Amino acid sequence: MNRSSETLQNTLHAAGQSMTSARRIVFEALLNHEPQTMPQLVASCRGKIDRASVYRTVSLFEHLGIVHRLPHGWKYRLELTDRFQRHHHHITCMHCGRTASIPEDSLLEQRIAAMSKSKGFSVTSHQLELQGICGRCEATHVGTSQK
Ligand SMILES: [Zn+2]
Ligand SMILES: [Zn+2]
Repeated sequence: MNRSSETLQNTLHAAGQSMTSARRIVFEALLNHEPQTMPQLVASCRGKIDRASVYRTVSLFEHLGIVHRLPHGWKYRLELTDRFQRHHHHITCMHCGRTASIPEDSLLEQRIAAMSKSKGFSVTSHQLELQGICGRCEATHVGTSQK
């Protein structure tokens, strides 16, 4: 068993829950993937578990801090929390919705910790979401007013 599924099992057990095949399937669909919307996640699990099980599992995972929501306009994407992958940030293209991961930057992390401390807080987690226009869209849309 690899470390991330061990962490999953420990987290479930600590909450009095057990590992089920639905939970394993949803977890594996999220592991080492770019953040997904709920419909994308339902699609990745299609044929293995039904939509209702995906929803139920995601809501349990959110409750237990296994999954978090990344705001994306008025929608959101789902991603495993930092317990299961290296801490990072995202940038999303406002035109096509493409997402890129930005690796952890220790200077930025230190600044965030220092700023929180100056307000008397010790920060336990944060999400930093950047929005912009990707190079591909910029090349396509340059000089045109419509999409
Ligand atoms: Zn784009
Ligand atoms: Zn960070």
